[in-house]
Parts: sequence; structure tokens; C-alpha cells
Amino acid sequence: MIQLRNINRVFGKGDERTEAVRNVNLDVGEGDFVTIMGPSGCGKSTLLSIIGMLDASWTGSYTFVGTEVHRLKPKKRIALNRDYVGYVFQQYHLLDDLTVAENLEVPLTYRKIKGAERSRMVDEALERFGLGPKRRAYPGSLSGGIQQLVGVARAIIARPRVILADEPTGNLHSDQAREIMELFQRLNRDGATVVQVTHSEENASFGNRTVEMFDGEVK
Ligand code: ADP
Repeated sequence: MIQLRNINRVFGKGDERTEAVRNVNLDVGEGDFVTIMGPSGCGKSTLLSIIGMLDASWTGSYTFVGTEVHRLKPKKRIALNRDYVGYVFQQYHLLDDLTVAENLEVPLTYRKIKGAERSRMVDEALERFGLGPKRRAYPGSLSGGIQQLVGVARAIIARPRVILADEPTGNLHSDQAREIMELFQRLNRDGATVVQVTHSEENASFGNRTVEMFDGEVK
């Protein structure tokens, strides 16, 4: 489903140059649940954003569900992300001028789901994540933990084939974290492919394979 070959990503120039991802080769099969682990700064988030087609400034070749991403123009790349990927950002990236319910609706509008069905799916997600009381709240008024839950809900609401999650439980209580991991596991069993970045061995234990990174390289 995902094949990365000789992927390199460099930030900055001269003294500021950082080789964030170095010669990475990685295969993720359909139905895999892969965990990327490694020390802070080793390139995990950078690699995940490449997989999610959120970054285009890398070299190498990348095939995603049969499409050669390295040949795609930005619009096509974004379309592929919207059609297939649910992404949980480490820093949530919620839209500040939209309410919680409106944030959850965004991925559904990309998929051209009709209004009544959209409302039903939003209500269901709010209920599932215990976010009903916050539906009219704006992200800026919410705690980090609640924003993280909204971010997870938004990532999965459109039932994406691929879930990419960057430290998805970093701001949650351990019982909430376990619930999110159990949810990912259920979605994975139902066919979703999952790639998560985490420091937590507990979270990693929900996946079926762990990939270690160090200094930009996959070990
Ligand atoms: P991790 O997710 O493993 O903590 P990152 O992928 O965030 O690591 O970062 C890898 C390296 O790339 C780090 O040295 C980081 O400082 C650098 N880096 C990441 N993003 C940027 C950026 N936008 N500009 C400059 N350097 C960056």
C-alpha cells in the first residue's frame, strides 16, 4: 500500500542543514498497524508527514496505493491525501474559527457526503468521543486533551483507508489513551491501515510491527 524508496528530507542550508530523514526505505502493507519509535528529533514526524503527502520537499520515490507520489503535482497530492488519509497532528491543527462540530464536518465535505448524512456522522462522532457538550465550543477555549480528542475524531470520521497518527495520545489520560488505541485497533481490524508515531511502549503494543528510527534513518 505504501512503498518508500531512498527517501531523503533536508531542512535548511549550510550550518543550519539538518538531514531529518535519510535514505529511508519502508513498506507498509494494506491492513498493517505500524508504530514508528525513536528519540525526539530523529525524524519521525517528518517521515509521517511525507507518508501523509503533507510535505513535498523530499527526494526519492514513493508509491501510495499504486500512485507514484513523487510524480504528482501539488493538487493531485492533496486530493490523494483527502481521499485516503485521516491524519492526527501532534499539535492538533484544528481550525480556530470553526466550532468542534464544524471541524469534524470538514473531512466529510471533502468526500462530498450529503448534508443530512454529514450531520448524522458528526453527531455519532461527538457521542463516541464524549464531545457532545463541546459541540459549539471553539478550539481555543478547550484544553489540550480535548483538542487532541477532536483531532482524533476528525481523522477517523470519514472512515479513511489510512490513519496516520503523530503522538495521538500525548495529552490524554492513560485510560483515554487506551480507548483511542482500542479504537485504532478496531478500525485496523475492519481494514484500515494505521501508522502511528509514539514514545509509548503501551501504545506500540497495539500495533503489529514497530519500526525504529535513529538520526533520520530507519533501523
Ligand atoms: P521527531 O518527530 O522524531 O521528534 P522531527 O521529524 O520533528 O523529529 O524532526 C527531525 C529533525 O528535523 C529535527 O532535527 C528537527 O529540528 C528538524 N526539523 C523538523 N522540522 C523542521 C522544520 N520545519 N525546519 C527546520 N528543521 C526542522
